[in-house]
Amino acid sequence: MKATAKNIMVGVLALQGDFERHLSQLERLNISSVEIRRADRLKDIDGLIIPGGESTTMSNLIDRFEMRETLVDFCASMPVWGTCAGMIMLAREVDHNMVRPLNAIDLSVKRNGYGRQVYSFFTEVTAQLNGNAASLKASFIRAPMVSRVGPGVAVLAAYKDSPVLLSSRNCLVSSFHTELDDDLALTRFFVDKFVSKA
Ligand code: GLN
Repeated sequence: MKATAKNIMVGVLALQGDFERHLSQLERLNISSVEIRRADRLKDIDGLIIPGGESTTMSNLIDRFEMRETLVDFCASMPVWGTCAGMIMLAREVDHNMVRPLNAIDLSVKRNGYGRQVYSFFTEVTAQLNGNAASLKASFIRAPMVSRVGPGVAVLAAYKDSPVLLSSRNCLVSSFHTELDDDLALTRFFVDKFVSKA
């Protein structure tokens, strides 16, 4: 099954990190995409992916490129998906004073909550997508751990009783990567359920 969206443009924040994998997944689904490095480009897109990478560096670059205000506004109402560092950036609270999150979803997260790089692992996670259970290929790489889930936030998947995939009205966050393992399911879900219906 292919994502059905027509005439939509999905941006991938390309300041730092793992943005190319997301772009190539969008391409494989025939979704138009664009790298976002400037605030004024946000008006051209229907949804945004904030990739994995390094949330302290992303915080600095967002400020250095004067993107913060426009990004906060965009992420407050437009479709946005954050993976790993992207999830940290979209949270309300982060346990690290060098991360300045965008407060798009009412979550508290613990940066590197699953341990350091050497404790990275691959697993399969069962997620509730569209009311069906789907098995996702999930890489946890210095992944954030959710420490508080606010009202209005749904848990779509958990790993060892800890939420790892969550959503609110306009926002999807995953503490793991699926784009590294050529699993298109979450990209398709984001496009179909968040971007296309917005
Ligand atoms: N631990 C990283 C951070 O703090 C995120 C790692 C990742 O995106 N794979 O930003």
